[in-house]
Amino acid sequence: MLHYHTIPVTAFQQNCSLVWCDETLKAAVIDPGGDLDRIRAEVARRGLTLEQIWLTHAHIDHAGGTGTLARELGLPIIGPHEGDRYWIDGLPQQSLMFGFPPAEMFTPTRWLHDGDTVQIGHSTLDVRHCPGHTPGHVVFHSREAQRCFVGDVLFAGSIGRTDFPGGDHDTLIASITGRLWPMGDDTVFIPGHGPESSFGRERRSNPHVRGT
Ligand SMILES: [Zn+2]
Ligand SMILES: [Zn+2]
Repeated sequence: MLHYHTIPVTAFQQNCSLVWCDETLKAAVIDPGGDLDRIRAEVARRGLTLEQIWLTHAHIDHAGGTGTLARELGLPIIGPHEGDRYWIDGLPQQSLMFGFPPAEMFTPTRWLHDGDTVQIGHSTLDVRHCPGHTPGHVVFHSREAQRCFVGDVLFAGSIGRTDFPGGDHDTLIASITGRLWPMGDDTVFIPGHGPESSFGRERRSNPHVRGT
């Protein structure tokens, strides 16, 4: 069974999630934007073996710590979709623009595509490509746990910004309605910022997507 623990990191309080298989204690970290010492302390405290880095998209608050963590621990970098290559190449400028520590450059070990799966221990998660906030944004869906790690696609009561270069509002709405809603109203999602919610609750009450 898949377990997870979310650690808000960086000045943007980005929800970095540790996910692990409880039979093997093998773990992946989703979106290690920064505060790597806190992430590593949580890994140690829970007795986990960190084996992979998974990225939803390449904004600095989500991807800023990736290069350093991958180099120090020898981890593969899985994702995002190749549509975010220009955001990865632009990490140094993102660091300057948002006042982040310099981000170490990296190249993903594996780009993800819609319909791919990722595996940690005995747990498998489905990958859906959800562009709109960024062109290469992906989400990670665990059917067994009824959880979805959605990055900045959807939030409790809000949706991702689309005013950055490469963002597109209609594309984002299509990703939410066409790729998140089919996962089911009972599915709980872990957004990139703020509290968890369920898809059903957002369909009922989120003013940006209500009734869709
Ligand atoms: Zn973002
Ligand atoms: Zn974010």
